[in-house]
Amino acid sequence: MSDLHRIEPGSQVHLAELPSAAAPYHDNRDRAEEEFKQLRKRLLDLQHRLYSEGRHRLLVVLQAMDAGGKDGTIRRVFEGVNPQGVRVTSFKAPSKRELAHDYLWRVHRETPARGMIRVFNRSHYEDVLIVRVANLAPEADWSLRYDHINDFERLLSETGTTILKFYLHISKEEQRERMQARIDNPEKRWKFAMHDLEKRRQWQSYQEAYEAVLERCSTTWAPWYAIPGDDKWYRNLAIARVLVGKLDELDPQYPPAQDEIDGLVVT
Ligand code: ATP
Ligand code: MG
Repeated sequence: MSDLHRIEPGSQVHLAELPSAAAPYHDNRDRAEEEFKQLRKRLLDLQHRLYSEGRHRLLVVLQAMDAGGKDGTIRRVFEGVNPQGVRVTSFKAPSKRELAHDYLWRVHRETPARGMIRVFNRSHYEDVLIVRVANLAPEADWSLRYDHINDFERLLSETGTTILKFYLHISKEEQRERMQARIDNPEKRWKFAMHDLEKRRQWQSYQEAYEAVLERCSTTWAPWYAIPGDDKWYRNLAIARVLVGKLDELDPQYPPAQDEIDGLVVT
């Protein structure tokens, strides 16, 4: 169940044909929300164990078109976890200092420490997405990056970091509605940026850039999941299933007590 949306390494991806709505996968929102609630309870427990054990590291990468739901996913899925054990990094356009280094420099130092869950709200993938579409680097540079990224993620994986990558797949119409809401609703207006419209005009080029990412960078050690994103209740459920499935596999355990404390009485 949790592998339903995983992109098999080396497979072809046609985003225009990939459903962005829940319908083909789920037809009952109430049941989905109930399952999500149960999964969140397990997620909280597993995260608590992960943190106390201090052994595994988990990196969650979120990518999407503008208004694709990255923020909402983080809010809903990680609500209530121990904030000491989960950190979110939002990657914006690189600073001058960051640009003076290679593009993975700023990324590597944000990767999770032992016991931690790190969420990347955007990531090094921007370096083959916006950089490719907006021509921020020559093709001779960015075309090498797919291999760099796979190697970088393999390094992380082989040194004890579990990596899960989610592309939130929304339709162009869904993006239109959400962007319009950002304009119309004063509480959402802060999220709207003029250049989002420019990126929307380049929708097709971005979809192609995402296809290249999913085709070239879904690996056995760092799989991509293309999650239908139009229906938030299904998106949250699908992501929670993958997270809980993976954490269950890691099976983190509370560490044993340091000394003989059985029966110790505190006076
Ligand atoms: P939302 O989707 O909710 O609007 P956001 O992730 O777009 O959130 P913003 O602060 O609006 O957050 O935008 C961050 C911007 O930084 C994005 O336009 C993204 O493409 C850009 N960015 C991130 N990494 C890079 C990079 N390596 N090179 C160039 N631009 C980048
Ligand atoms: Mg934005």
